[in-house]
Amino acid sequence: MSTMNTVGRPTTPNRVESKPATLTGGRGLLQDEHLIFESDGWGKTGVDLPEPKTDGSDLGDLVRRDPIGLPGLSEPETMRHYVRLSQKNHAIDLAIYPLGSCTMKHNPRLNEKMARLPGFADIHPLQPTSTVQGALELMDTLAHWLKTLTGMPAVALSPKAGAHGELCGLMAIRAAHEASGQHERRRKVLVPTSAHGTNPATAAFVGYTVVEVAQTGDGRVDVADLAAKLGDDVAAIMVTNPNTCGLFERDILEISRLTHEAGAYFYCDGANFNAIVGRVRPGDLGVDAMHINLHKTFSTPHGGGGPGAGPVVLSEALAPFAPAPWVVHDADGYRLIEREEDEAAQAFGRLCAFQGQMGMYTRALSYMMSHGSDGLRQVAEDAVLNANYIKARLSDLMSPAFPEGPCMHEALFDDEWLKGTEVTTLDFAKAMIDEGFHPMTMYFPLVVHGAMLIEPTETESKQELDRFIHAMRALAEAAKAGDVDRFKGAPFHAPMKRLDETRAARSPVLRWTAPEGSNIAAE
Ligand SMILES: *Cc1c(COP(=O)(O)O)cnc(C)c1O
Repeated sequence: MSTMNTVGRPTTPNRVESKPATLTGGRGLLQDEHLIFESDGWGKTGVDLPEPKTDGSDLGDLVRRDPIGLPGLSEPETMRHYVRLSQKNHAIDLAIYPLGSCTMKHNPRLNEKMARLPGFADIHPLQPTSTVQGALELMDTLAHWLKTLTGMPAVALSPKAGAHGELCGLMAIRAAHEASGQHERRRKVLVPTSAHGTNPATAAFVGYTVVEVAQTGDGRVDVADLAAKLGDDVAAIMVTNPNTCGLFERDILEISRLTHEAGAYFYCDGANFNAIVGRVRPGDLGVDAMHINLHKTFSTPHGGGGPGAGPVVLSEALAPFAPAPWVVHDADGYRLIEREEDEAAQAFGRLCAFQGQMGMYTRALSYMMSHGSDGLRQVAEDAVLNANYIKARLSDLMSPAFPEGPCMHEALFDDEWLKGTEVTTLDFAKAMIDEGFHPMTMYFPLVVHGAMLIEPTETESKQELDRFIHAMRALAEAAKAGDVDRFKGAPFHAPMKRLDETRAARSPVLRWTAPEGSNIAAE
């Protein structure tokens, strides 16, 4: 049997049962790889160091008694170990990464080159500011563009992730309520049911009681429920826009009006800012604080790819409470406002020891400047177009969670269409791995049953999208045709087969121990 794939080449579907397992665990030029501690080169080293000149030790009692227990590897063995491991990883440089609520699928090489310039990469946070004027100018320029793009008067650059930005925003809100003597009364934070888990977690961490706000049938904040819950005991609301269902909050102006009327602040979770950048300024919507995940909107690497950065833009009302440090400039050049005796008298404190993630700042500004303002607007337009293309091409086979109207930057399906097939969202995602595709986000947002959240972003071409859609359609048809075996034990072709995810989460093995009777010992 042969079908045509999206680029017109004939493909022969592989029958799972026709594939014998290999004898070694290797597969198609990829060797099975063991832990580095399981290599048997103990005592070997890849570098030739001169004998230490001193005998004896300056460490007194602290001198090591047991072997250090580091594996011995030559340079080629070390290289191969890590390259083999890297081949087990999926990467955005290999294929579409359809995770939703996650964004960046591409980290332009230009950004990487800029971030590695010694003037940005090799500086120390304690250097005199006169020697890092360029770096401070870069931070100031980035701050300028973040404020311009959001229509907000202030920004705190230092938070190191979206969740850290939420903490920054809620601490500024708490400081503002303390300053006006309302903190004791305002103990609640309202959060919609569809919110990302970090929202209620942050509110609770800052000491607030989290109150859930209902969602309407079409996936938006239930304004009547919000209005009923707002009052003089509410400190803030936290609303994601576009929200985690991939939808623009239609009533956002009404939401901010009601919030301010109740004397509360409007925290916007800006993780999805890439869907509206250059088109909508959150400041115009009445937002008081919003984090921007640079690793989701401005192309800096995400997750294992590097540290994130979550600058928080702040309204006039919250700006005085922004955490130190921040950059200012005058005729004498750029300097950092660090201490209360400077201009930071009302700052709620600081969020990290130094100035934040310089490498992320450099990458984000490089991305902004290489796109220009017209390019950034097109980012949002193309991200939304691509998501709607996927929604349109899959909606006859799969069930969109909110079929009415277009979506924003993510296409969301539920598992209604899998009813009666015995295939679950998890099975479907695992079978995608066998077809060469990283799964989409599963089971999030929680308000959608068996959710499958797909976010292509602007960086995927139509050809890549068609390739993805082709695989999704083929799998969907297989599920509906009763080809259950293809799904139940999947993945069959990945280095790791189906894992016991509950056990992996509940009792992870975090420490390697030497096998009984071996003379090797790990740290
Ligand atoms: C990713 C995300 C966050 C958290 O951001 P991190 O940078 O991962 O800490 C918060 N809210 C939403 C909607 C997100 O998608």
